[in-house]
Parts: sequence; C-alpha cells; structure tokens
Amino acid sequence: MNTSVSPVGSNEGALPWYSRSAEDIFNELGVHPDTGLSADEVIARRVQYGTNEIPRGKKVQWWQLLFGQFKSPLIFILLIAAAMSAWLGETADAVVIMIAAIVNAAVGFWQEFRSNNTFEKLQAIIKVQSRVKRDGKIFDIDSKDLVPGDIIVIKAGMKVPADARLLSAQELLINEALLTGESFPVKKQVREISGTAGVGDRKNMLHMGTIAEKGGGTGVVCATGALSEIGQIAHLTVDTKEEATPLQERLEQLGKVISIIVIVSAIVIFVTGIWEAKTINTAVLVDMFETAVAVAVAAIPEGLPAALSVVLAIAAQRIFKTSGLVKKLIGAETLGSTSVICTDKTGTLTMGKMSVEKSLRVLDASRAELVIAFSNEAIIVEKDGKSEVVGEATDVAKLEYYLAKGGNLEDANKNYPRLAILPFDEEEKYIASYHSSSDGANFAFITGAPERLVGLTELSDTEKKSILDEVEEYAKKGFRMIGVAERKLEASQVVDPENYEQLRGYVNKLNFLGLYALRDPIREDVPESIKIAQRAGVRVIMVTGDHKLTALAIGTELGMGNGPDSAMEGSELDTLSDEELARRIGKIDIFARVNPKHKMRIVKALKDNGEVVAMTGDGVNDAPALKAADVGIAVGSGSDVTKEAADLVLLNDSFTVITEAIRQGRIAFDNMRKVVIFLFMGSFTEVIIILAALILREDILPITAVLILWANVIEDGFPTVALAFEPGDDGIMERGPYKRKELIMDRMGWSFVYIQGLVTDVILVGIYLYLLKETNYTAEHIQTFIFFALGADALFIIFSLKNLGKSIFDINYRNNKYLLFAVVIGFAIVLGVIYSPFMNNAIGTYPLTTFDVVFLLSLGVFKVFYAEIIKWWYRAHGYFKREPVLQMAK
Ligand code: ADP
Ligand code: MG
Repeated sequence: MNTSVSPVGSNEGALPWYSRSAEDIFNELGVHPDTGLSADEVIARRVQYGTNEIPRGKKVQWWQLLFGQFKSPLIFILLIAAAMSAWLGETADAVVIMIAAIVNAAVGFWQEFRSNNTFEKLQAIIKVQSRVKRDGKIFDIDSKDLVPGDIIVIKAGMKVPADARLLSAQELLINEALLTGESFPVKKQVREISGTAGVGDRKNMLHMGTIAEKGGGTGVVCATGALSEIGQIAHLTVDTKEEATPLQERLEQLGKVISIIVIVSAIVIFVTGIWEAKTINTAVLVDMFETAVAVAVAAIPEGLPAALSVVLAIAAQRIFKTSGLVKKLIGAETLGSTSVICTDKTGTLTMGKMSVEKSLRVLDASRAELVIAFSNEAIIVEKDGKSEVVGEATDVAKLEYYLAKGGNLEDANKNYPRLAILPFDEEEKYIASYHSSSDGANFAFITGAPERLVGLTELSDTEKKSILDEVEEYAKKGFRMIGVAERKLEASQVVDPENYEQLRGYVNKLNFLGLYALRDPIREDVPESIKIAQRAGVRVIMVTGDHKLTALAIGTELGMGNGPDSAMEGSELDTLSDEELARRIGKIDIFARVNPKHKMRIVKALKDNGEVVAMTGDGVNDAPALKAADVGIAVGSGSDVTKEAADLVLLNDSFTVITEAIRQGRIAFDNMRKVVIFLFMGSFTEVIIILAALILREDILPITAVLILWANVIEDGFPTVALAFEPGDDGIMERGPYKRKELIMDRMGWSFVYIQGLVTDVILVGIYLYLLKETNYTAEHIQTFIFFALGADALFIIFSLKNLGKSIFDINYRNNKYLLFAVVIGFAIVLGVIYSPFMNNAIGTYPLTTFDVVFLLSLGVFKVFYAEIIKWWYRAHGYFKREPVLQMAK
C-alpha cells in the first residue's frame, strides 16, 4: 500500500482536489475505491491526522464561570462594603460580608456549572455516523473515526462527515448553506472541474457539515477535522451558547424590574437612614450604606436565572434517563403545555421490528423474493465481527426474508448488477431498482404500497379490485402490506442513474408479482403511555404513511381513535381547505397515507386551533414540520437532518419517552414556580421590614446589615437550589396541560408574595416594636430575634411550597433529600450564628432564650399555617382544575 501520504489532507502545493481526476486522487490518497482502506492503514492515518472533529467553539471553563460571578454588580458592591468596614477597623463585619459575598458567588457558580455541564454532556451523546467501505466491507462508524482516503457512502438525510471528492452520485442534492449561505441545494456531479472554483462551485466535492437533502452518492475523503473547509472557519461559526427560552426571558425581565425597584428602595433606605440619624459622621454613613447594600443583596433575585437553568438542566437529565435527549433547552413551558402529540406509527408506537408473515398471490416465489431483495435500501453491515442487515424496518424485513428463504445476494448481484435506484419516497411510496441481466435486457424491480403499484399495472379493473380487497382484508388485521412488481425495460429505455425523472417515467405498465403481509408488533409500554397522555389532557394523533385500515387496526389496539370516522387519508386532507381542516381536526385521531406536506398542514391546523403541538418525524422531509411544531421530536433512528431540526430526540424511538418528557416539563414548570415564589417572598419581606423600621424612625434597626446577609445565605443559597430538585407531584399527569403562555407568577404566586409577605411583616414589625418598647431586650437581642424569624422560618415554609396544589398534610416531605439537607444546613447556620460565642462577638448576635426559640418556632408553624390558608383558598376555588381534561369528556 502506498504510504507516502504526507501531503494528504493538507494537499499543500498540489492542484486542488476538485480539479484532479479520481485516479490521481486514489493514487495520492493510497486507496483502492473497491476495497477502501485496510484496517492497518486506518490506524496509521488516525495517528497521523487525529480524529475527524471540528475544533470546538470556546468551551466555557469552570474558572471563567467562577470569575463571572464576581462580575455581578451586587457581589462587587458587597466587596466595596467589606473594604469600607475593614478601613474603619470593623474587621469582623468585613469578614462576614466577605463570607456572604463568597457564598453568594459559590451558589451562583455551582448552579451555572451544573446546568452548563449537564447540557454539554447531553449534547455530546448524539454521534454522527458515517458509512464507510474498508477492507471491502461496509461499516457504520462514528464520524470522528474517518481518515483521509476513506470511501464513504452518502444518503439523503445524512450530514456529510468530512470533505470528500465525489465518486458517484444519484441525483445528489446537497444543502451547503452552512458554508455558502445559499439555502437552495446544489446538485452534485462527478465531473472534474478545471481552473479555480469557489466553495459553492465545487460540484464534485462534498463538504463536511453540509446536508444531503436528496439522492445519494459515494466519495473519497480528502480532508478531515480542522483541515476541512468548515474546520478552517470553525471558530467563526461554532457557537455553543444556549439560547434562553421565552419563559426564561420573561422571568429575567421580571427580575430586572424587581432589581430596579429594590435599588430604588435601597437608595431610599440609605437617604432616609441618614436623614433620620441625628448626627452625620462616617460611622453612620457606612452603617446606612451597608444596610442599603444588604437589603439590595438580599432582595434582588440575582440567583433567579441560574436557578431556572438548573431546573431545566435537571429536567433534561431526567428526560435523558428515560432515553430522551433534549437537544435544545426546550422551555419547560412548551413541554409542560403540550396539548397534542402527533406521532409516527412505525417504530414509535410499534417496535419497528418487522417480519414478513405471509405472501399472497405470489405465483413465482423466487422471482418475487429477488424483487424484494433488490428493491431495497437496506444493506449488510459488519458489526462486531458479524454481518447485520441495517436500514428502514420494512427493508430489513424484506431482505431478511429473502435471506431466510435461502437467497444469495452475492450471486444475485452478479446475475443482475444494479444500474440505478430510486429510493423510497414518502410521496411516491415505492422503491424502484434498475438492473441489467445476462441476456441483455434491463429490469426495473419495484416494491411499495399496493394501491400505488396496482395503479401502475395494466390489470383489469376487476383484477385490481380483487387485489385491493385482499389488501384491505389483511390491513384490517393490522398487517403492513407491500406490493411487488417488475418491468422488463425496452431497449430504447436507457438507464441513466443520475436522471431521476426519466427513471420515474419507466415505472408503469408493471407486471404485478404479488403481495407480502408484514407484522410490526406494538410496543408493550405504549398503550399505558397513551392512557397517561389522554388522562393528562394531551391528545394523541397518529400520523402515518401506512394503509388507513392498518393504522386503524393498530390505533384500536392502542386505545386510540373512535372507529372509521376518526381516521382520514392524506388524499382526503388534500381536498380540505385550511379552515375546514382546522374545524375537523378535533375529531380525527388517525391520519393515514400522509406525506410530509400533510404533516405540515396538520401542525398548522392544530396551532391555528390554539393547541401546543408536539410532532415526531424521522425522514429528511419531516424537518420542516418538526420546526413548525412547538416541540419537534426526532426518532433516534431517523436522519441527521431531522435530529438537527428537533428539540427532543427519542433515543430508543419509543412514544413513552414523549409522555415522560411532558411529565418532566410540567414538573420543571412547577419547580420554577416554587423557586420564584420562594425567592420573591423572602426578598419582599426583608425589604418591607427595613423600610417600615426606617419610616417608624426608631434608633435601633430591626436587623443589621450583616444579619440580613446571613439570612440571605440561609434562604437563597441551598433551599432555592433544593427546590429545583423536587421530584414533582404524583398527580401531575392527571390535570390538563398548562396554557400556552401560562404565567409563572400567576395570581396565586403574587398572593404568596404579597399576602404572606405582608402578614409576616405586620407580625414582625409588631414584635419588633413590642420588644423595643415593652421589654428590656438589647439591640443585639432584638436583631437576633428578627434574624431568626426571617431566616429560620423560611426553612419551615419551604415544606408548604413543595406542592402548591396540595395540603401540607398530603405532601411527602421526605422525597427530596436535597431539600432536607438544605434545611438541616440552614438550621445549623442559624444555630451557629446565634449560639457560637465567636459569632456573638464577631457580628453582634445574642444567644436567644428558650422562650424566644419556642415562640419563634411557633411563629414558623404559624407562617406555614397561613401559607396553607392561601393554598386552601385556591384549591377551594377550583384554581387547579382550571383546564378540564378534554380527552376524558369524549
Ligand atoms: P410509515 O412509515 O409511516 O408507516 P411510509 O410512508 O413509510 O409510512 O409507508 C407507506 C407505505 O409504503 C407502507 O404501507 C408500505 O406499503 C410502503 N412501504 C414503506 N416502506 C417501504 C419499503 N421499504 N419497501 C416497500 N414498501 C414500503
Ligand atoms: Mg416509513
């Protein structure tokens, strides 16, 4: 083997790949196109060229995230406050403020790190596979293992895995928008190009990262990884930043509004404080500055965006555990509000593992078997040392049947070499394969939907009807039916593999050879999942290319559809206007014989009706419908293009993953709501109490700046994060979907913040005034008392917030170990701050008496009590039943 491969890949000094002959390139790359590289050669080249990966965009490093925390103005202000205290000689204050700043930064860092990490890990899961010829056999390998010289096979729906010179093409259309910005696909051809050509004009080259929209071809890899066209400009295009979901954006907006209010309050506190002070000196100034800063730090929900990302990251992780890959940070709001799932049948509702169970009307079995083997896109691939048939489920079943009947593909290929193939097309619904034969005649071998094939024969109407009656009879029993036919081409009918229109033109006057009935068993877990979805108010619609009766039979088995009237065929859909479709779609549960264009119309009609639509797809042509849907779902076995367009990928293809994802979406939405309510409630209470004290013009503030910071550490630190881990309510799939634009801070949320916050403030201000006027409690004692009331009581109320729709007596308070941990830590900090002599000295706390503690604990219980009253009021007024579960009513 030629080992002088040093210029391979870089191609330095030589003519560009596109203007060289294939022979020349084979020589240069040291490969024979019929066998591909040898295993040894592959290993040597891997060492030489490294993996075929584009240099990734700048990955966010952990230390960047950490430093990012200190860029937040709040932390910055805290540091200034600490510096001021230190300058005044108040070392203890300075230290405590520093600690508060560090804890704040640490929590923020941990949150961002966690959500970043989860997403990066998940994104790495989908591997782009390449089909290569090595040692004369075909393998499916991870694209990153490609080396220059590999012979690759490209098919519609695939991403081009490396830069390659084209060797053969069958109406290969490649979308090169990634490189050229041109969204119209380019038709590729093998011919050499003379002179120089820009990337967009290199018709005989395939470029890494571009997408095959149609047809297929083979090529020889010329450049991999960083040496590919895209690799060379990768730093310009790779952007790893996650977009925020609409809900996150709205909440961040709300957070900003609140921050402004808080900053204004802080300024008011600062100014009033100085105004109230009898004398003005540095100590007073610093004191008031610190109070204002502490209030701002405590009240600004700075941790909000990070906490929300954690909620979404956890949802993504939980969905992943059920074999779903969240590709884009789908808003929990979108999943949680999904009201219709449009799902494929084959592979998603069924196992997608078919077998031919019966042949019908087959007179010449060996001929018919030859046809199903040839009119077939499945191929035999080497996997772990064994040969395996891979491809679309129908094709696999067909080829396996041929082999099981004793067919020998190698001999067959010798006797009838393939000239061209028209791949399965969801609109044409057949595969046609063109072959030459030893007696000089060419044949077209065709398999496909029986109605389609019968329509292309010249049989009499009675014969046609009799065949189709038999098809229906079997379809009714849930069989997937395929027809088999052939045509002997006339001498004048040349077979040009690149001329698809002409090839299609030969598919008529067919000689019908018979029918095969295939069985695709339903997935065991799916009937239950469909029930769960229906109970959760989510409609399930089957959208399939299969026969209407097959679809109905399977639908009935799955517990969906209400008899023949609930099924519609694509051809009927074509006769409906958009308005008519939107009007009727509420009653249609099964769409049969559809093509991707129908899918698009179905999505649109449902969206026009205000539904939030999830749509699954596998083929290249499904991508637009997935993009149009609110939640685009690709099956794991689908094409690269579909996966790229999708928000969610079903790694095991199963429908069950969709219901689980919806469940997690709802849980995430609920958890966001809890986090936001908890954060806002604490902040509101703290700001109001300080403002009230200032307005009351007392000398002693109810709480010191430093203690506010500590209360903030207890409340906002761990408990907020812990809420993100809430496992969710058991009944979450027993209520209707959320509205399309459900507000996180709904009426109930604000009731919590205002009512709960105000009642608490009134009580606390009352206690404060009482202690101040009627007892001889010292300032430290009072302030410690209020600190406990603010900090520790939050640790009670969090149990009430665990489930907004249930009474606390019905809540399982032990199902979230993070929360229990957060509460234990919280109490430990409270006790440490109050009872350790060190802290007493350092920040002026006072060891509370038993009476104080009993009183404060009762207050905590009382706070829970009125939180429960708010929840009860909303429950009693049917707030949680606001969306009736539609499906059940039917
Ligand atoms: P779906 O995959 O949703 O069931 P398709 O559009 O793939 O629907 O298939 C529609 C019909 O086309 C099938 O009912 C079958 O008759 C025929 N068909 C599908 N795939 C093949 C294939 N690989 N070979 C032959 N016929 C096929
Ligand atoms: Mg199919």
